[in-house]
Amino acid sequence: MWSVIDQAAQLARTAGDDRPIGVLRAEAHAALVLRTGADGPAVTGHLTLTAPLSALRPPGTAASAERTDLGGPVPQLGSTPITTAHLRELLAQLGALGVQAPPGGSLALALTDDDGALLATTTPAELARLAARGCPAHGKNADCGCPALGPPPAVPGYTHTAAQERFLRLRDRTCRHPGCGQPAGRTDADHVLPYDCGGRTTCHNLCCLCRTHHRLKTFARGWRYRLHPDGTLTVTTPSGVTRTTRPPGLRHPQTQRALPPPRPSPVDEDTPPF
Ligand SMILES: [Zn+2]
Ligand SMILES: [Zn+2]
Repeated sequence: MWSVIDQAAQLARTAGDDRPIGVLRAEAHAALVLRTGADGPAVTGHLTLTAPLSALRPPGTAASAERTDLGGPVPQLGSTPITTAHLRELLAQLGALGVQAPPGGSLALALTDDDGALLATTTPAELARLAARGCPAHGKNADCGCPALGPPPAVPGYTHTAAQERFLRLRDRTCRHPGCGQPAGRTDADHVLPYDCGGRTTCHNLCCLCRTHHRLKTFARGWRYRLHPDGTLTVTTPSGVTRTTRPPGLRHPQTQRALPPPRPSPVDEDTPPF
């Protein structure tokens, strides 16, 4: 591979391209991988940009973050709502960075809490629309702190929505069965608590399972699955062994929201020497 890439770079140099050889090699490599100018389908990138909400705290909005009493949508997961201010800040940061979808590809945006739990997904177009619209209840420029974006809502029927699928694939990225790495693009959205048993069609009850593990879960007896609100899945085998899988990027519970160390007691009760 190196020799092919280097040959292409040397050829470009001979043809008069006087940029550094490393740049020419990188360009040749990209052209081979992306099949630029070749027959067959072009290869492109699907880019997901993950932004923790705490990185999108514009000055002066922290105080309004807890206000949910103004009649807007109810925030999910008990977390800080994603407000219009957050969305405008994200839009500004994207603009400043010049982040765009690769040609022929896509750009998805994922917003997480500080523990890495996925709160919402969106696209640049939807982000721009929501940021321009402002709060639907209190007006375009209200600093009300109402949620402006959240996880896709539950739907009454069995079939999940495209928005739910986008959320699940970004959250799970692979089949969630312990030890399985099938990419989420080739998985089914499974009702963890089956629809027939009262399970709802909501991202809190859906997870990505490949066809094999979807069948196993549906037809094999004695397996138990439980999906937690942060996306953690516990699977218990018929013999009683429990395994846990977490969505990629979600912190381990032991490192989540580490509380500040307890304040030293004002009275030092230890005996000297200290
Ligand atoms: Zn509002
Ligand atoms: Zn699987």
